[in-house]
Amino acid sequence: MWIRGGLVLDPANNVQEKADLCIKDGRISGVYPGGSEKSDEPSINASGLWVLPGLIDMHVHLRDPGFEYKEDIASGSMAAAAGGVTTLACMANTDPVNDNPSVTNYILEKARQVSKVRILPVGAVTKGLKGKELAEMGLMKKAGIVAVSDDGNPIEDSSLLRMAMEYAATFGLRVISHCQDRSMCASGVMNEGALSSLLGLPGIPQVCEDIMVARDILVSQYTGIPIHITHISTKGGIDIIRQAKQRGVKVTCDVTPHHLLLTEEKVRSYDTNAKMYPPLRSEADRKALLEALKGSLIDCIATDHAPHARDEKALDFDTAPFGMIGLQTLLPSIMKIHLEYGIDFMKLLACVTAHPAGILGIEGGDLQVGSRADITLFDPEAKWTFTEQDVKSRSINSAFLGQEFTGRVVQTFLQGKTVYSAT
Ligand SMILES: [Zn+2]
Repeated sequence: MWIRGGLVLDPANNVQEKADLCIKDGRISGVYPGGSEKSDEPSINASGLWVLPGLIDMHVHLRDPGFEYKEDIASGSMAAAAGGVTTLACMANTDPVNDNPSVTNYILEKARQVSKVRILPVGAVTKGLKGKELAEMGLMKKAGIVAVSDDGNPIEDSSLLRMAMEYAATFGLRVISHCQDRSMCASGVMNEGALSSLLGLPGIPQVCEDIMVARDILVSQYTGIPIHITHISTKGGIDIIRQAKQRGVKVTCDVTPHHLLLTEEKVRSYDTNAKMYPPLRSEADRKALLEALKGSLIDCIATDHAPHARDEKALDFDTAPFGMIGLQTLLPSIMKIHLEYGIDFMKLLACVTAHPAGILGIEGGDLQVGSRADITLFDPEAKWTFTEQDVKSRSINSAFLGQEFTGRVVQTFLQGKTVYSAT
């Protein structure tokens, strides 16, 4: 099969040129800049479209097993495919928790049966995400996990974090850390500041995140073992990461599209879709995140796709659960950041392709001869508004509902097979 006439963007190989791609047996068998000779094989006309490596989202909650009323592997994978995401890493806070190989096997087996995209489970760091005893990382690694995380919960015990990092490293697994000092934000539901006082909502101060970012970095520096900080949201956290990287600490981090595009102002109307952890922060924090992205300090962009049912999000702001969906708005958000803030699209694209592939140690995220034919065709000019009708997830909790975007996924291929088509 051929994909002809599109603009191929492949940050891993610094390629940005019009080319024809030939696909055989699920892999890219040829890349022909400047076009190729006609053949009888099936061909897709991609002229006017961008041909991207299928996106890799390293932070997704699929809710399966245990919370299938919010999302399951089938519905979550449909949302991913519609968003041009061909690989996702799913977090361990399911029920039962993915803290042993039987749950890992369940996820991978169900994915084999129903998933549109490649699903890579993240194992728990501690049994039951309780922060007390290490989970069976070695057995889960054998079963197929690609990283470990207690995401949803911080690892409060510093000694346990050190042990977890040392143990994980022996299996070639990286710890993904959700940074939150619960003692500083026990009842908090939004960013702490003038607006939280005005709205009468308990706050989550920036420092509650920054303390743990600093702690994680110091443990990483002491052990020499890499750590990945997920969903960084504060200027303070960014400053700590910048200094650490300058000292040579092996810390990497990701940021969500919503922290790059939205602020706490979104909470003014008590919209529970704008309630998440970390909370939407101030404009100063958001600007610092954009600057850090521009300066290549932030390694990845990940959605923290977190579906919750309509009736759960219909609760009042204090009691509604934390999180929003994000798979279908990832690429349009990246385009928005590119267009509005002038950040190089190739740099942004690397944050959802080559960089997460490198951090997770997985194949994919590039478009060279021999690569997996995981490909996203993107119309960079299409203007559209994200509405409930567009949502492929089982849940519709997005703070981007009603948002206008430029750029839309047209078609998504997994190993050369179409898994999503807009028409
Ligand atoms: Zn988290």
